[in-house]
Amino acid sequence: AKSIAVLTSGGDAPGMNAAIRAVVRSGISKGFSVLGVRRGYNGLLNGDVYEMNLRSVSDIIGRGGTILYTARSPEFNAPEGVKKAAEVCSRLNVVGVVVIGGDGSFRGARDLTNAGVPCIGIPGTIDNDIASSEYTIGFDTAMNTAVDMIDRIRDTAESHDRCSVVEVMGRHCGDLALQVGVATGAISILVPEMPWDFQTDIIDRIRLAQKTGKRHFIIMVAEGVGGTNEIANRIQKETGIETRATILGHVQRGGSPNLRDRVVASEMGYHAVTLLEEGQGNRVVVVRGGKVVDFDITEALNMKRTFNKALYDVALSISI
Ligand code: ADP
Repeated sequence: AKSIAVLTSGGDAPGMNAAIRAVVRSGISKGFSVLGVRRGYNGLLNGDVYEMNLRSVSDIIGRGGTILYTARSPEFNAPEGVKKAAEVCSRLNVVGVVVIGGDGSFRGARDLTNAGVPCIGIPGTIDNDIASSEYTIGFDTAMNTAVDMIDRIRDTAESHDRCSVVEVMGRHCGDLALQVGVATGAISILVPEMPWDFQTDIIDRIRLAQKTGKRHFIIMVAEGVGGTNEIANRIQKETGIETRATILGHVQRGGSPNLRDRVVASEMGYHAVTLLEEGQGNRVVVVRGGKVVDFDITEALNMKRTFNKALYDVALSISI
Protein backbone atom coordinates (compact mmCIF):
# COMPACT_ATOMS: atom_id res chain seq x y z
CA ALA A 1 0.00 0.00 0.00
CA LYS A 2 1.02 3.62 -0.44
CA SER A 3 2.34 5.16 2.73
CA ILE A 4 2.35 8.64 4.13
CA ALA A 5 4.59 9.67 6.99
CA VAL A 6 4.09 12.15 9.80
CA LEU A 7 6.73 13.87 11.93
CA THR A 8 7.07 16.70 14.45
CA SER A 9 10.12 18.96 14.22
CA GLY A 10 11.68 21.95 15.99
CA GLY A 11 10.16 23.15 19.28
CA ASP A 12 7.21 21.17 20.67
CA ALA A 13 3.80 22.75 21.21
CA PRO A 14 0.59 21.61 22.89
CA GLY A 15 -1.77 20.28 20.22
CA MET A 16 0.91 18.54 18.15
CA ASN A 17 -0.53 15.21 19.33
CA ALA A 18 -4.01 16.21 18.20
CA ALA A 19 -2.55 16.97 14.76
CA ILE A 20 -0.74 13.62 14.64
CA ARG A 21 -3.98 11.88 15.57
CA ALA A 22 -5.87 13.65 12.79
CA VAL A 23 -3.22 12.75 10.20
CA VAL A 24 -3.16 9.10 11.26
CA ARG A 25 -6.92 8.66 11.40
CA SER A 26 -7.72 10.53 8.17
CA GLY A 27 -4.77 8.90 6.38
CA ILE A 28 -5.99 5.42 7.28
CA SER A 29 -9.59 6.20 6.36
CA LYS A 30 -8.39 7.45 2.95
CA GLY A 31 -6.60 4.14 2.34
CA PHE A 32 -3.00 5.04 3.14
CA SER A 33 -0.82 3.23 5.58
CA VAL A 34 0.63 5.80 7.96
CA LEU A 35 4.17 5.78 9.30
CA GLY A 36 5.08 7.68 12.45
CA VAL A 37 8.60 9.16 12.24
CA ARG A 38 10.46 9.63 15.53
CA ARG A 39 12.48 12.75 16.40
CA GLY A 40 11.78 14.91 13.39
CA TYR A 41 13.96 14.68 10.29
CA ASN A 42 16.43 12.52 12.25
CA GLY A 43 13.91 9.68 12.13
CA LEU A 44 13.68 9.95 8.34
CA LEU A 45 17.47 9.82 8.03
CA ASN A 46 17.78 6.81 10.34
CA GLY A 47 14.64 4.99 9.21
CA ASP A 48 13.33 5.33 12.77
CA VAL A 49 9.68 4.88 11.77
CA TYR A 50 6.79 2.64 12.79
CA GLU A 51 3.46 1.81 11.26
CA MET A 52 0.61 3.47 13.13
CA ASN A 53 -2.96 2.23 13.36
CA LEU A 54 -6.21 3.82 14.52
CA ARG A 55 -5.43 2.84 18.10
CA SER A 56 -1.82 4.13 18.07
CA VAL A 57 -3.28 7.60 18.57
CA SER A 58 -5.88 6.72 21.19
CA ASP A 59 -5.94 8.93 24.29
CA ILE A 60 -3.50 11.52 22.96
CA ILE A 61 -5.84 14.33 21.91
CA GLY A 62 -5.52 15.98 25.32
CA ARG A 63 -1.87 15.24 25.92
CA GLY A 64 0.87 17.90 25.71
CA GLY A 65 4.22 17.41 23.96
CA THR A 66 4.49 15.03 21.01
CA ILE A 67 4.33 11.22 21.12
CA LEU A 68 6.62 11.16 18.06
CA TYR A 69 9.26 13.23 19.93
CA THR A 70 10.87 16.15 18.21
CA ALA A 71 14.41 17.25 17.40
CA ARG A 72 16.55 19.63 15.48
CA SER A 73 18.49 17.80 12.80
CA PRO A 74 21.70 19.49 11.60
CA GLU A 75 22.40 16.51 9.31
CA PHE A 76 19.13 17.00 7.42
CA ASN A 77 19.88 20.71 7.08
CA ALA A 78 22.33 20.01 4.22
CA PRO A 79 21.80 18.83 0.63
CA GLU A 80 23.26 15.34 1.28
CA GLY A 81 20.93 14.95 4.26
CA VAL A 82 17.87 15.85 2.21
CA LYS A 83 18.95 13.42 -0.53
CA LYS A 84 19.42 10.63 2.00
CA ALA A 85 15.99 11.31 3.54
CA ALA A 86 14.40 11.19 0.08
CA GLU A 87 16.04 7.80 -0.54
CA VAL A 88 14.74 6.44 2.76
CA CYS A 89 11.23 7.66 1.81
CA SER A 90 11.34 5.95 -1.56
CA ARG A 91 12.60 2.72 0.04
CA LEU A 92 9.66 2.84 2.49
CA ASN A 93 7.17 3.58 -0.30
CA VAL A 94 6.36 6.96 1.29
CA VAL A 95 4.45 9.12 -1.18
CA GLY A 96 4.01 12.10 1.11
CA VAL A 97 5.14 13.53 4.44
CA VAL A 98 3.26 15.74 6.87
CA VAL A 99 5.67 17.98 8.81
CA ILE A 100 4.37 19.62 11.98
CA GLY A 101 6.68 22.45 13.12
CA GLY A 102 7.79 26.00 12.46
CA ASP A 103 9.45 27.93 9.62
CA GLY A 104 12.71 25.97 9.90
CA SER A 105 10.81 22.72 9.53
CA PHE A 106 8.95 24.14 6.51
CA ARG A 107 12.26 24.96 4.81
CA GLY A 108 13.13 21.30 5.26
CA ALA A 109 9.73 20.30 3.85
CA ARG A 110 10.33 22.50 0.80
CA ASP A 111 13.76 20.94 0.23
CA LEU A 112 12.42 17.40 0.62
CA THR A 113 9.59 18.16 -1.82
CA ASN A 114 12.18 19.40 -4.32
CA ALA A 115 14.03 16.12 -3.81
CA GLY A 116 10.91 14.24 -4.97
CA VAL A 117 8.89 13.61 -1.80
CA PRO A 118 5.73 15.76 -1.59
CA CYS A 119 5.54 17.41 1.84
CA ILE A 120 2.81 19.35 3.61
CA GLY A 121 3.61 21.68 6.53
CA ILE A 122 1.39 22.26 9.55
CA PRO A 123 2.27 25.24 11.81
CA GLY A 124 2.91 24.00 15.34
CA THR A 125 4.62 26.51 17.65
CA ILE A 126 3.55 28.46 20.72
CA ASP A 127 5.15 31.64 19.30
CA ASN A 128 2.49 32.28 16.60
CA ASP A 129 5.41 33.41 14.44
CA ILE A 130 4.35 31.96 11.08
CA ALA A 131 3.65 34.90 8.75
CA SER A 132 1.34 32.97 6.42
CA SER A 133 -1.01 31.83 9.19
CA GLU A 134 -3.18 33.85 11.53
CA TYR A 135 -2.79 31.05 14.05
CA THR A 136 -0.31 28.34 15.03
CA ILE A 137 -1.10 25.21 17.03
CA GLY A 138 -0.16 25.70 20.69
CA PHE A 139 -0.50 29.48 20.86
CA ASP A 140 -3.83 29.57 22.68
CA THR A 141 -2.80 27.03 25.30
CA ALA A 142 0.51 28.83 25.89
CA MET A 143 -1.20 32.20 26.26
CA ASN A 144 -3.64 30.80 28.79
CA THR A 145 -0.89 29.03 30.73
CA ALA A 146 1.08 32.28 30.91
CA VAL A 147 -1.99 34.24 32.08
CA ASP A 148 -2.62 31.64 34.77
CA MET A 149 0.99 31.85 36.00
CA ILE A 150 1.06 35.67 35.93
CA ASP A 151 -2.24 35.89 37.83
CA ARG A 152 -0.45 34.05 40.63
CA ILE A 153 2.55 36.38 40.42
CA ARG A 154 0.12 39.31 40.46
CA ASP A 155 -1.50 38.12 43.69
CA THR A 156 1.80 38.17 45.52
CA ALA A 157 3.05 41.38 43.83
CA GLU A 158 -0.18 43.06 44.90
CA SER A 159 0.12 41.86 48.49
CA HIS A 160 3.66 43.23 48.79
CA ASP A 161 3.41 46.38 46.64
CA ARG A 162 5.97 44.96 44.29
CA CYS A 163 6.91 45.30 40.66
CA SER A 164 7.16 42.09 38.62
CA VAL A 165 9.11 41.84 35.41
CA VAL A 166 7.88 38.74 33.59
CA GLU A 167 9.50 37.23 30.52
CA VAL A 168 7.38 35.12 28.18
CA MET A 169 8.52 33.18 25.11
CA GLY A 170 8.84 34.64 21.62
CA ARG A 171 12.29 35.05 20.14
CA HIS A 172 11.32 37.11 17.11
CA CYS A 173 7.65 37.55 17.76
CA GLY A 174 5.92 39.59 20.46
CA ASP A 175 2.44 38.12 19.99
CA LEU A 176 2.52 36.10 23.21
CA ALA A 177 3.85 39.07 25.23
CA LEU A 178 1.26 41.40 23.72
CA GLN A 179 -1.78 39.20 24.27
CA VAL A 180 -0.70 38.11 27.74
CA GLY A 181 0.35 41.66 28.63
CA VAL A 182 -3.10 42.98 27.78
CA ALA A 183 -4.78 40.13 29.63
CA THR A 184 -2.79 40.65 32.83
CA GLY A 185 -2.75 44.45 32.83
CA ALA A 186 0.97 44.91 32.30
CA ILE A 187 1.96 48.57 32.50
CA SER A 188 4.69 48.11 29.87
CA ILE A 189 4.98 45.53 27.12
CA LEU A 190 8.40 45.12 25.51
CA VAL A 191 8.41 43.25 22.19
CA PRO A 192 11.01 42.81 19.44
CA GLU A 193 8.73 44.55 16.93
CA MET A 194 8.54 47.89 18.77
CA PRO A 195 11.34 50.23 19.88
CA TRP A 196 11.31 51.06 23.58
CA ASP A 197 13.08 53.33 25.99
CA PHE A 198 13.76 52.48 29.63
CA GLN A 199 12.91 55.93 30.94
CA THR A 200 9.79 56.78 28.94
CA ASP A 201 8.28 53.33 28.47
CA ILE A 202 8.96 51.95 31.96
CA ILE A 203 9.99 54.48 34.62
CA ASP A 204 7.75 57.36 33.50
CA ARG A 205 4.75 55.05 33.25
CA ILE A 206 5.37 53.60 36.71
CA ARG A 207 5.72 57.08 38.21
CA LEU A 208 2.57 58.36 36.53
CA ALA A 209 0.54 55.40 37.79
CA GLN A 210 2.10 55.73 41.25
CA LYS A 211 0.77 59.30 41.46
CA THR A 212 -2.77 58.02 41.06
CA GLY A 213 -2.30 55.39 43.74
CA LYS A 214 -1.18 52.30 41.83
CA ARG A 215 1.20 50.27 43.99
CA HIS A 216 2.01 47.11 42.05
CA PHE A 217 3.21 46.78 38.51
CA ILE A 218 3.74 44.14 35.85
CA ILE A 219 6.28 44.66 33.08
CA MET A 220 5.93 42.13 30.24
CA VAL A 221 9.08 41.24 28.31
CA ALA A 222 9.27 39.05 25.21
CA GLU A 223 12.15 36.56 25.18
CA GLY A 224 13.57 38.24 22.06
CA VAL A 225 13.96 41.52 23.97
CA GLY A 226 15.69 39.76 26.87
CA GLY A 227 17.63 41.43 29.68
CA THR A 228 14.81 40.68 32.10
CA ASN A 229 16.97 40.47 35.25
CA GLU A 230 18.78 43.63 34.31
CA ILE A 231 15.52 45.49 33.71
CA ALA A 232 14.25 44.41 37.14
CA ASN A 233 17.46 45.56 38.85
CA ARG A 234 17.33 48.95 37.14
CA ILE A 235 13.67 49.49 38.07
CA GLN A 236 14.40 48.76 41.72
CA LYS A 237 17.42 51.06 41.70
CA GLU A 238 15.59 53.96 40.06
CA THR A 239 12.24 53.75 41.83
CA GLY A 240 13.01 52.04 45.12
CA ILE A 241 10.10 49.66 44.46
CA GLU A 242 10.96 46.07 45.33
CA THR A 243 11.18 44.39 41.94
CA ARG A 244 11.36 40.72 40.98
CA ALA A 245 12.16 39.08 37.66
CA THR A 246 10.39 35.89 36.57
CA ILE A 247 11.30 34.02 33.41
CA LEU A 248 8.38 31.69 32.71
CA GLY A 249 10.35 29.47 30.30
CA HIS A 250 9.21 26.01 29.32
CA VAL A 251 6.12 25.87 31.54
CA GLN A 252 4.57 27.73 28.60
CA ARG A 253 5.28 24.87 26.21
CA GLY A 254 3.79 22.09 28.30
CA GLY A 255 0.37 21.07 29.45
CA SER A 256 -2.83 19.76 27.98
CA PRO A 257 -3.87 21.58 24.77
CA ASN A 258 -7.05 23.60 25.15
CA LEU A 259 -10.13 23.41 22.96
CA ARG A 260 -8.92 25.78 20.27
CA ASP A 261 -5.61 23.98 19.80
CA ARG A 262 -7.28 20.56 19.64
CA VAL A 263 -9.82 21.73 17.08
CA VAL A 264 -7.40 23.65 14.84
CA ALA A 265 -4.91 20.76 14.99
CA SER A 266 -7.65 18.30 14.00
CA GLU A 267 -8.77 20.42 11.06
CA MET A 268 -5.22 21.06 9.87
CA GLY A 269 -4.22 17.39 10.12
CA TYR A 270 -7.23 16.35 8.06
CA HIS A 271 -6.61 19.09 5.49
CA ALA A 272 -2.95 18.05 5.09
CA VAL A 273 -3.92 14.47 4.26
CA THR A 274 -6.53 15.69 1.76
CA LEU A 275 -3.76 17.57 -0.08
CA LEU A 276 -1.51 14.50 -0.19
CA GLU A 277 -4.44 12.43 -1.46
CA GLU A 278 -4.80 14.92 -4.33
CA GLY A 279 -1.11 14.43 -5.09
CA GLN A 280 -0.17 17.91 -3.92
CA GLY A 281 3.07 18.77 -2.15
CA ASN A 282 5.02 21.86 -1.12
CA ARG A 283 1.97 23.30 0.63
CA VAL A 284 1.54 24.67 4.11
CA VAL A 285 -1.81 24.45 5.90
CA VAL A 286 -2.76 27.78 7.46
CA VAL A 287 -5.60 29.75 9.03
CA ARG A 288 -6.70 32.73 6.93
CA GLY A 289 -9.83 34.75 7.59
CA GLY A 290 -10.60 32.21 10.30
CA LYS A 291 -10.64 29.32 7.78
CA VAL A 292 -8.21 26.44 7.27
CA VAL A 293 -6.69 26.81 3.79
CA ASP A 294 -3.31 26.11 2.16
CA PHE A 295 -0.48 28.02 0.49
CA ASP A 296 2.64 27.29 -1.48
CA ILE A 297 5.45 26.78 1.08
CA THR A 298 7.94 29.04 -0.68
CA GLU A 299 5.37 31.83 -0.94
CA ALA A 300 4.46 31.29 2.71
CA LEU A 301 8.12 31.48 3.81
CA ASN A 302 8.53 34.80 1.99
CA MET A 303 5.59 36.46 3.71
CA LYS A 304 6.26 39.12 6.33
CA ARG A 305 4.56 39.08 9.69
CA THR A 306 2.55 42.10 10.77
CA PHE A 307 2.51 43.14 14.42
CA ASN A 308 -0.83 44.05 16.00
CA LYS A 309 0.04 47.70 16.61
CA ALA A 310 -3.61 48.61 17.26
CA LEU A 311 -3.77 46.23 20.23
CA TYR A 312 -0.40 47.49 21.45
CA ASP A 313 -1.81 51.04 21.48
CA VAL A 314 -4.88 49.86 23.37
CA ALA A 315 -2.61 48.31 26.01
CA LEU A 316 -0.63 51.55 26.37
CA SER A 317 -3.72 53.64 26.89
CA ILE A 318 -5.56 51.43 29.38
CA SER A 319 -2.76 49.88 31.46
CA ILE A 320 -2.05 52.99 33.49
P1 ADP B 1 11.19 25.32 13.77
O1 ADP B 1 10.63 24.37 12.79
O2 ADP B 1 10.42 25.31 15.05
O3 ADP B 1 11.39 26.69 13.17
P2 ADP B 1 14.07 24.83 13.56
O4 ADP B 1 14.35 26.14 12.91
O5 ADP B 1 14.98 24.36 14.62
O6 ADP B 1 12.61 24.77 14.22
O7 ADP B 1 14.03 23.74 12.39
C1 ADP B 1 13.78 22.38 12.67
C2 ADP B 1 14.56 21.50 11.71
O8 ADP B 1 14.18 21.77 10.35
C3 ADP B 1 16.08 21.72 11.68
O9 ADP B 1 16.75 21.03 12.70
C4 ADP B 1 16.47 21.18 10.33
O10 ADP B 1 16.56 19.77 10.33
C5 ADP B 1 15.30 21.60 9.47
N1 ADP B 1 15.64 22.86 8.81
C6 ADP B 1 15.70 24.09 9.37
N2 ADP B 1 16.08 25.02 8.46
C7 ADP B 1 16.28 24.36 7.31
C8 ADP B 1 16.70 24.75 5.98
N3 ADP B 1 17.01 26.02 5.69
N4 ADP B 1 16.79 23.78 5.06
C9 ADP B 1 16.51 22.50 5.35
N5 ADP B 1 16.12 22.07 6.56
C10 ADP B 1 16.00 22.97 7.53
